[in-house]
Amino acid sequence: MTETFEAERLILDRMPRTGTHREPLERCAGRILAEEVFADRDQPPFDRVTMDGIAISYADWAAGTRRYDVVGTQAAGAPPAEPVGSGCCAEVMTGAMLPPGTDTVIPVERITRHGGAAEVAADAPVAQGQFVHRRGGDRRRGAALLGPGLRIGPPEAAVLASAGVADVPVAALPRVAVVSTGDELVDVRDTPEPFQIRSCNDRAIETALLRHRLGSVTRERLADDADAMLTAVERLHATHDVLILSGGVSMGQFDFVPAVLERLGAEVVFHRIEQKPGRPMWFGMSGDGKPLFALPGNPVSTLVCATRYVLPALRLSLGLTPAPLEYAVLTETVEIPGSMTLFMPVLLRSSGAGVLEATPRPTNTSGDFVSLAGTDGFVELPRGTGPFGPGTPVRLFRW
Ligand code: AMP
Ligand code: MG
Repeated sequence: MTETFEAERLILDRMPRTGTHREPLERCAGRILAEEVFADRDQPPFDRVTMDGIAISYADWAAGTRRYDVVGTQAAGAPPAEPVGSGCCAEVMTGAMLPPGTDTVIPVERITRHGGAAEVAADAPVAQGQFVHRRGGDRRRGAALLGPGLRIGPPEAAVLASAGVADVPVAALPRVAVVSTGDELVDVRDTPEPFQIRSCNDRAIETALLRHRLGSVTRERLADDADAMLTAVERLHATHDVLILSGGVSMGQFDFVPAVLERLGAEVVFHRIEQKPGRPMWFGMSGDGKPLFALPGNPVSTLVCATRYVLPALRLSLGLTPAPLEYAVLTETVEIPGSMTLFMPVLLRSSGAGVLEATPRPTNTSGDFVSLAGTDGFVELPRGTGPFGPGTPVRLFRW
């Protein structure tokens, strides 16, 4: 039987890479950059004044000049002024171009105005080049500013804007069909009969994919009818890049999903993982190389399997630079029941010493998804290891 780390590897080794396209910058929050981005100008693009004050030539200051004739004003956004001659200064504002003929800025707090002259306090500290952010001081034109695989957050958006990248090369979002199977399922807007339940797995998976910007999602509910299921799965497979099914992968009489996917022509990569919850998980590849995830229907199992296997697979597909593995330390003892790797939901807290602490939040059963609400994710306790007492570092997966 497959171990958790083997299942992960079997999936990752088969994931196709998505294509790339350009997306307007304002729609790129959380998207994955697909190409390198270069500086189209020096950064900063000109010698930039960083304080309101006057700009002088340091040579004048070194020669003892303390009173300067004000010959002009240089505001932010104004083209370069006339050169400033010896013994003179220009008023300058933060963000302005440093006027030609000057190299040093003295802040306005150090200056007294006498009509058309500015006098600098005798004790003002003045160093050559002060309060000037030099052209190209941060990056030269042509330098690489951002690399592919970065997730676009606030700093990356700022760099893209400053580099004039209005349409950003990003990894295309895979079209993901999220399929719930089960005769008992109804929609959130329906009123269930006493023997029915509202489908929630699809909503959980959809939220994970949208929140992490890992795909565009179509949801569909299918009955436990093998032929109808095959017809629907064929249709969804033709129009989507990834299929994520939930339910119908166990030993029940109406658990048709693995057989249906095999009738679709899928290669079975594995069925069942030595883990709890989520043991019956099935994974395969369609004949034309599309990943097919079939997750057990119990909502805790679905969520754990989606987070442990599907999200990392999609991240890889999108070319996201892998983050370092995350660990947290247990605050309480956890016993592993039986001989399976255990996924334990946790609540996270940062200790005063900067350690991430995970407090177990066991659910009643793998159907008890209500107890997951408010948790941060789960930890993985590998079978055959342990004991898992307080202070044990364990691998963490966030929802
Ligand atoms: P299955 O894997 O189809 O045997 O389903 C296991 C359990 O999960 C059953 O109690 C199902 O009713 C429940 N279940 C399956 N799919 C969903 C779903 N989409 N939303 C909520 N519960 C589900
Ligand atoms: Mg079912």
